[in-house]
Amino acid sequence: MTPEALLDALDPEQRAAAAAVSGPVCVLAGAGTGKTRTITHRAAYAVQTGAVPAASMLAVTFTARAAGEMRTRLRLLGADGVQARTFHAAAMKQLSYFWPKVVGGAPPTLLTNKFQLVANAATRARLRPGTSEIRDLLSEIEWATCTLVAPDGYVAASAGRTPPFPAPDVAAVYAAYRDLKTAQGVADFDDLLMLTAGILEEHADVATEFRSRYRSFVVDEYQDVTPLQQRLLDAWLGGRQDLCVVGDAQQTIYSFTGATPQYLLGFRQRFPDATVVKLVRDYRSTPQVVELANGVLASVRDKLELQAQRPPGPDPVFSEHADELEEATSVARRCVQLIRSGVPASEIAVLYRINAQSAAYEAALSNAEVPYVLRGGERFFDRPEVREALLLLRGQARAVDDRPAALPDAVASVLAVRGWTLEPPPGSGAVRERWESLSALHRLAVDSPDLDLPGFVAELEERAAAQHAPTVDGVTLASLHAAKGLEWDAVFVVGLVDGTLPLVHADTPNQVEEERRLLYVGVTRAREHLGLSWALARSPGGRASRRPSRFLDGLLRGVVPQAPVARTPRTARGGARVTCRICSAVLSSAVDKKLGRCESCPSDRDDVLYDALRSWRAERAKGLGQPAYCVFTDATLAAIAEQKPATVAALVKIPGIGQSKLDKFGADVLALVTSP
Ligand code: ATP
Ligand code: MG
Repeated sequence: MTPEALLDALDPEQRAAAAAVSGPVCVLAGAGTGKTRTITHRAAYAVQTGAVPAASMLAVTFTARAAGEMRTRLRLLGADGVQARTFHAAAMKQLSYFWPKVVGGAPPTLLTNKFQLVANAATRARLRPGTSEIRDLLSEIEWATCTLVAPDGYVAASAGRTPPFPAPDVAAVYAAYRDLKTAQGVADFDDLLMLTAGILEEHADVATEFRSRYRSFVVDEYQDVTPLQQRLLDAWLGGRQDLCVVGDAQQTIYSFTGATPQYLLGFRQRFPDATVVKLVRDYRSTPQVVELANGVLASVRDKLELQAQRPPGPDPVFSEHADELEEATSVARRCVQLIRSGVPASEIAVLYRINAQSAAYEAALSNAEVPYVLRGGERFFDRPEVREALLLLRGQARAVDDRPAALPDAVASVLAVRGWTLEPPPGSGAVRERWESLSALHRLAVDSPDLDLPGFVAELEERAAAQHAPTVDGVTLASLHAAKGLEWDAVFVVGLVDGTLPLVHADTPNQVEEERRLLYVGVTRAREHLGLSWALARSPGGRASRRPSRFLDGLLRGVVPQAPVARTPRTARGGARVTCRICSAVLSSAVDKKLGRCESCPSDRDDVLYDALRSWRAERAKGLGQPAYCVFTDATLAAIAEQKPATVAALVKIPGIGQSKLDKFGADVLALVTSP
């Protein structure tokens, strides 16, 4: 692109910021107004006009993914060679260059297992934290590091926080953690920033060399910069002014990590000559979405009101559901409709407040055979607590039980062994997330009234197998935090009840306002279709005691109370006893049930049929634009090739073949099985 074309692609305010190539520049603007676009165009314009050599510009973004996207955009705009990195990646690169010169030898090894070291530090401090408490201790140490609080300042600085142990104990763990790192010659990610800043601050020769190399700096999402990152940025600048920052104070959502918008809001005080630009035209979303986004912030003072630029689109859809499973099933159904109407799956996102909420959506999308990608969180079945619980459930399912309890009770008593209770624990953070994960397993049990425990375990294993398949282009499942800066054609913001958004533990006014901003971030990710939903009860049959998020007060229009969604009928694999077709023994394990025989009994698989089924599956998956496992898993195909079901009744007895698979693929499979 020519320099003129780069500026022509911007509106007058964006253009003013992009044309100010030497900084200081500050773009204060709402969501979707083109901040990220402005800084990429500005960088390309500066490079193309020769104002700034590409190699001397450093652009910093919030996540590795955003940095990657920025590099691609810069390349497309003809600004190859501009560095686009996260603070951490930039610091790591600089440290490995300067360390040998300043200190000698290799820089400290990056500590990959912080968790273990914090556990050891806690033992030194004579604490006995559980897994979740260790994670909460780690978060507390990270917060202190990012806000430049040393162990001896922790007690005073942590007033108003809710650490997992009394503040003096946390301070002791923090000090022990630092000592252990030093003794082992390792550094964590945050240390990289501090060490790099320290070298630049203390070694004038290094600072001179660095500053002759880099002279122009750009920071995206500047409202979420931490004091530690700002210190590194100051060390890079060394008093120079060639800095361009863009951000939106209304999207400050990382305060809990120590991030603060004060640097963005105080930019003009610090740089009185700065070019400060405000953008209000929203190029991303339809007027309907923009109106709702403005409504979410109606009570907030000093905000920038967004002005929609796009043509009108559909109204946002508010929907109320009886329980969370209904909600997830309904959202999955909407995803199917959108995909059928031509919206690519990769242009759809489901956004929630906490990662544990993904479980219901992973299950619902799997059931609806919609591929999905999980962003910024572990897949449900990969979480340690879920893996542990599955092991226990599997063990219990194998035990002979003459008087089996109802499934939800059986599952509850197994989960109780891992400390799970029906009521949530007090406190937030990792302890709460763990409880949410186990509760999600319990809810799946409540939703499976016709399964016994072995059948339930088989169901979970089936889901785990399907969901472990490599990720593909699918619907994005992400927390609201992980959705920052991104955009999709269709967005569902789910779980919008008081207690989840705002989270029940957000009790100070500041914390509640940060939760409101999370909703604003979520709503403003949508280009066109926006769904907002909530469930009155947590579980099927539970008390409908919840209310829609207070942030929706005054905004709800045309709420659609959702009729119960017909769930996929379960097939004969439910409570009935299944016996081995070779030796007639009662089968209990999931693998045995799937095969319809003891694993140790001889296989009678028809290999020709198996190969034919695999070829057929590859064709169908290709035609559907879905991964093969969304048609059938390998295990299901193997079971078909062994059992050769010739009728619909025989086919649905194979675990993994529910009503929707039967509707879609039943005729094909039966034709293959019965073909001569
Ligand atoms: P967020 O606050 O969510 O990070 P943002 O302010 O960084 O948003 P961008 O992602 O840069 O916004 O832009 C939002 C969308 O609007 C993008 O698809 C972008 O290409 C488009 N856009 C921005 N400015 C213009 C413009 N002047 N003309 C046309 N499209 C634009
Ligand atoms: Mg942006």
